[in-house]
Amino acid sequence: MTPSKEELEARARHFANTVFVIGAGVIMLAASLLQSFAVSRFGANGGDYVFIAATLCIFVLAANRSRFALFAIERQCAKYGHVPREGSSVCSRCFQAIADKSRLD
Ligand SMILES: [Zn+2]
Repeated sequence: MTPSKEELEARARHFANTVFVIGAGVIMLAASLLQSFAVSRFGANGGDYVFIAATLCIFVLAANRSRFALFAIERQCAKYGHVPREGSSVCSRCFQAIADKSRLD
């Protein structure tokens, strides 16, 4: 049985949010691990640079959240055997736009 469009969307959103939260956590963890190294290497400012870079990475991650959601929808459609309509990038079953990454650029 195929989940409804709403259900697929909710799952895709959940996936995108999970990726974002985990990604942000990993970035902050990496930043705190790198901080002492950066301070010993670049002086007191080194630690600040690491956290500025980490913050930028999180912004990039946040900006790409729709991409993660699209990826999740594509995966779900593939799993349930959905295919895009002929000559279109919209799924013929749940009417999600898939295989159309250029739309998000
Ligand atoms: Zn589908």
